[in-house]
Amino acid sequence: MFIWAPEEEGEWPPGSASRWWLDGSLRALDASLREQGSRLVVRRGPSLAALEQLIAETSADAVFWNRRYEAHAIERDRAVKEAMPTARSFAAAVLHEPWTVRTRAGAPYQVFTPFWRALRALGEPDRPLPAPRLDPPGRWPEPVAVDVLDLLPRAAWAGGLAETWSPGEAGAAARLDEFADRAAGYADTRDRPALPTSQLSPHLHFGEVSPRRVWHAVRDAAGTAGEPYLRQLGWREFAHHLLFHFPHTAWAPLRPVYERMPWRDDPPGLEAWRRGRTGYALVDAGMRQLWETGWMHNRVRMVTASFLTKDLLIDWRAGARWFWDTLVDADLANNTLGWQWVAGSGADAAPYHRVFNPDSQAARFDADGRYRERWLGDEERPAPMVDHRSARLRALAAHASATASRGR
Ligand code: FAD
Repeated sequence: MFIWAPEEEGEWPPGSASRWWLDGSLRALDASLREQGSRLVVRRGPSLAALEQLIAETSADAVFWNRRYEAHAIERDRAVKEAMPTARSFAAAVLHEPWTVRTRAGAPYQVFTPFWRALRALGEPDRPLPAPRLDPPGRWPEPVAVDVLDLLPRAAWAGGLAETWSPGEAGAAARLDEFADRAAGYADTRDRPALPTSQLSPHLHFGEVSPRRVWHAVRDAAGTAGEPYLRQLGWREFAHHLLFHFPHTAWAPLRPVYERMPWRDDPPGLEAWRRGRTGYALVDAGMRQLWETGWMHNRVRMVTASFLTKDLLIDWRAGARWFWDTLVDADLANNTLGWQWVAGSGADAAPYHRVFNPDSQAARFDADGRYRERWLGDEERPAPMVDHRSARLRALAAHASATASRGR
């Protein structure tokens, strides 16, 4: 059963790209259930009422789901469990649940390396189980088609998404198979945006492949050379650990002093960034890749986010919101970690004075210009909207003024 209840997701109901993905994912799930003689039951929320109605229609005597870790989802699931004491939930979205590891002092981790060490000390995650046999119910409830949820965007924007992605379990398995063959080379190629990383992020977010399956596929294919990739799955675990223990960070800085940053209100600047018209080729290429495919390479996510928060001195939350709406892998834990890390306000953040220079990043990671060429073509380039050197000094001064006022 799938219940569509965006109003239960608080500040972060699924954005446009996520809705597009969800539409394809639900259709794919229904198709594979039908191959096994079953089907997907689709309903609108509120979740508890929808569940109660389905139980009445089918006389179901058990309810199971896999857990999520966003504050609103936790609250919702808790209310359902209170109303249905026999309901049971399980862990499937992460390798280890966010409360599994703690520092020696009993606190949540805020630095990645010791977190990762503690997680590895738990040993290898279990191998995934084979798919279960599904017994269809004797009586089927009223059908509701996925179309009724009206998830697809009205504008013609999603064409590039459809060309790039196959939402669903089969699409996830194909990506994983293809990636496993090159997983051993990940460490050497992962920072070059012209070359694809695994691109499993939306499949992982929507639960179409489990991190345990990805872990073992990479281990089996690449052995110890797979370690740098497993570490990235570790960052995903860390992001979920942080969001679970510090749920307010989806909207507020983890380090409170950053609440004092003198962010600039600059709607035209924000719009130029969103559209990829900043005049910095790597930034613009990244923003175009995002708009056209719903995905952006991690190196370029860092560069574009740094440009917004430091060169333009625009609040990271405005950038996180745009990513939320346009990324097919929009994920509250990972997006929050990524933005707070770049803005300097989060866990394990780089020192604020390390401001990415978009031109030297391009020279270093896209030396032959292939990535920029792919997304910008021979389009005439606008002049840089800010001078990076003076913008950097402005960012450092803003940071100094925010941190100097601490304790006043
Ligand atoms: P690979 O390099 O192949 O990595 C494999 C998997 O590891 C990814 O699918 C992802 O699940 C996980 N992973 C890798 N890097 C990170 C990371 N830094 N943090 C957390 N998990 C990671 N990732 C999202 O899934 N959703 C987001 O909304 C998101 N927003 C981001 C915003 C910013 C500003 C930044 C800097 C990063 C963000 N990331 C986000 C993290 C990262 O960029 C993507 O997970 C990655 O680019 C996805 O591509 P991939 O699957 O090919 O990654």
